Amino acid sequence: MGEGPRFMALTPAVNLGPATALTCRECGNSRELGPHYACEECFGPLEISYDFGDVTRASIEAGPRNIWRYRGLLPVPENVADTPNLEPGLTRLVRADHLAESLGLQRLWVKDDSGNPTHSFKDRVVAVALAAARELGFKVLACPSTGNLANAVAAAAARAGIRSAVFVPSNLEAQKIITTAVYGGTFVTVDGNYDDVNRLASEIAGEQEDWAFVNVNVRPYYAEGSKTLGYEIAEQLGWRLPDQIVVPIASGSQLTKIDKAFQEFIRLGLVEDKPYKVFGAQAAGCDPVSAAFKAGHDVVRPVKPDTIAKSLAIGNPADGPYVLDAVRRTGGAVEDVTDEQVVEGIRLLARTEGIFGETAGGVTVGVLKKLVDSGALDPAAETVIINSGDGLKTLDAVAPVVGPSANIAPSLAAFRASGLA
Ligand SMILES: *Cc1c(COP(=O)(O)O)cnc(C)c1O
Ligand SMILES: [Zn+2]
Repeated sequence: MGEGPRFMALTPAVNLGPATALTCRECGNSRELGPHYACEECFGPLEISYDFGDVTRASIEAGPRNIWRYRGLLPVPENVADTPNLEPGLTRLVRADHLAESLGLQRLWVKDDSGNPTHSFKDRVVAVALAAARELGFKVLACPSTGNLANAVAAAAARAGIRSAVFVPSNLEAQKIITTAVYGGTFVTVDGNYDDVNRLASEIAGEQEDWAFVNVNVRPYYAEGSKTLGYEIAEQLGWRLPDQIVVPIASGSQLTKIDKAFQEFIRLGLVEDKPYKVFGAQAAGCDPVSAAFKAGHDVVRPVKPDTIAKSLAIGNPADGPYVLDAVRRTGGAVEDVTDEQVVEGIRLLARTEGIFGETAGGVTVGVLKKLVDSGALDPAAETVIINSGDGLKTLDAVAPVVGPSANIAPSLAAFRASGLA
């Protein structure tokens, strides 16, 4: 073996655009691109390394009106946009003055990712995972899911014309079961919680060699899809970073990758280098990262989830320690809210901005409010929050507490009598 770093000698056998290697987050060991997700030396998670070419504001702006405008920063083939796919991304960044006013903030934006093809941010990560999985020779697109990923995988596979295999806890919201089953792939409900389903998926992945479990055996590629949320926020703000951002946490991948996107944009000179703070949001019924943050721990102790925010109900979050790193490095915090505050958060966002978020959105708005009230968040600083999913998928959360103003007979007299004029 030569003297230089091992990865220098490796030529990637696959074409995944600017991606050059897989590098361990823990020990820094590198290996060639392939269907690998854990370090051979220390079992740490692998992350994509890149050699970015000449990416400029103009080259991005000239790209398609979806996440593929950032393909020069993702582990995908150059011609990725030519293959049938759901074309997620470039969701709206909404100036939220009414919500800001009700919370005492000066400048607030909602990145509304419910506008994606299957109504959650998961379409981003699945699109990148699918593009990489095809290049790596996988035949089936699979996942364990808390719900939204199931929708995204089943739909993306249908659009791409390949088989899907989706595994979810059997106690999922009815809306998320139906909105997965409709796409017609293999769909298995499992009597267990998400962490049980995730373990089962790893075991199946060990046997089914041509199945790409997007968040298991192709996780390094999948995770990079979340960077597009960060890129879009910066581009939509007019090529600059916000001062503060509040992000929901399930595995913690979305949060760490938004931070990574901001760092890359700074390094590439696409935005001005300035400080920003990253805040994380969890439900009190599944708060392992929030608990570790508050206790000052570097490790995240797993919990058994019990919350209406099922899309965030991962008791053993893979990226928990890296969330703690990003939040502490930037001067942010992690906070959690009760299920009642989640419902209040959903209603507040709907009432003030006309945006109906799912329970994860309620978690994020609830945490935003709590952070403002506690003084952890600067009310004068420009803030962005993520609404990562659609309220139509978690109707049960608000069904008991909202309804019509009145039920009346079809007569003018009845309307007058209702007192609603
Ligand atoms: C999956 C999911 C998240 C967060 O996912 P991470 O695993 O932390 O990347 C946030 N919101 C919704 C609606 C989700 O489905
Ligand atoms: Zn390692």
